[in-house]
Amino acid sequence: MSDPVPPRAEIVVDLAAVRHNVRLLKDVVRGERPVALMAVVKADGYGHGMVEVAAAARAAGADWLGVATIEEALALRAAGDRGPLLCWLSAPGDDFAAAVAADVEVTAYSLEELEEIAAVGPARVQLKVDTGLSRGGAARQDWHDLFAVASDLEREGRIRVTGIWSHFAASDDPAHPANDAQEAAFRDALALAASAGLEPDVTHLANSAATLLRPSSHFDLVRCGIATYGLDPAPGAGSDDGPRAALRPAMTARARLVMSKAIAAGDGVSYGHTWHAPDDTTVGLVPAGYGDGVPRAAGNVAAVWVDDALRPIRGRVCMDQVVVDLGGELPPPGTEVVLFGPGDRGEPTAQDWAEAVDTISYEIVTRVGGRFVRRHI
Ligand code: PLP
Repeated sequence: MSDPVPPRAEIVVDLAAVRHNVRLLKDVVRGERPVALMAVVKADGYGHGMVEVAAAARAAGADWLGVATIEEALALRAAGDRGPLLCWLSAPGDDFAAAVAADVEVTAYSLEELEEIAAVGPARVQLKVDTGLSRGGAARQDWHDLFAVASDLEREGRIRVTGIWSHFAASDDPAHPANDAQEAAFRDALALAASAGLEPDVTHLANSAATLLRPSSHFDLVRCGIATYGLDPAPGAGSDDGPRAALRPAMTARARLVMSKAIAAGDGVSYGHTWHAPDDTTVGLVPAGYGDGVPRAAGNVAAVWVDDALRPIRGRVCMDQVVVDLGGELPPPGTEVVLFGPGDRGEPTAQDWAEAVDTISYEIVTRVGGRFVRRHI
């Protein structure tokens, strides 16, 4: 049988890389005391496929999975995951009863949420305290009341407080003063919770960057998202020959060249003619565009990999297609074009794309989708 025709554009997710990264992160937190690892698989596993990544992460030893919404948690349960699982972003009226019935641990930010959860209890609840991100979580002035009410509800048997946690604002910048301040505030919160009689099973603060750069913040569990997918959580923190350098990016975005052709010096390329060929050259048509999550901002600034060479994107990224400068070569239709990948062959990485379009790798990998066909290997 002949090989199937390769898809026009595909995302290939290397689950062996995910397993490698999970094992590496487990090693990072392996010390004198047990620290559990949560693989964060929200937003469809940062674009890598939530269910597939979750299974790979569990197989490699992830103790917990973390997601944002109850719907994501229930989808993991429906896919057969039975392990410890936390979700942390709900809106009034969300189906806490379904989460509790599925043995999902839910997070409460406020007294209102706590009451809503207790109403469908007995429920396993984690309390989130805001230590300085000023995003979700109970504000410092509300910690006392939240812990007091949680303690009362626990005594009544309506909830069990299994965790207390918070989230960093700037852990990718190890010198940022918010890191020390947040860690100190978190310790204050834990002391206050203890004085209210709460004895959570787990306390946690660290995301990927803090896991790799700030051991004092590991507490009982670390929540790793981006590092699970092999992307450096702190690219601005200087180079590293330790675990950060050993992460393996799991996602490759590739396509098949539609056509290549010659253009003449002075020809304008793509909508608006934002680029004119300074010399005679050749261009190639790549069948993926902003409708597939290729950032429109990549026009004239990012590059792809064709036939072992970096080929710059010329002109604007269109909805379905991108034009690249082939520098005089005329590769045949069907030639592989790698938009980004692990970087082993010299191809750009998601981090390279992020820098080119002034964003973070998280946004590159979570947004690429659309008509790309996703495949796990
Ligand atoms: N914990 C929470 C609450 C998050 O929202 C996220 C992701 O943004 C993470 C952990 C994982 O962060 P990272 O991908 O930087 O490891």
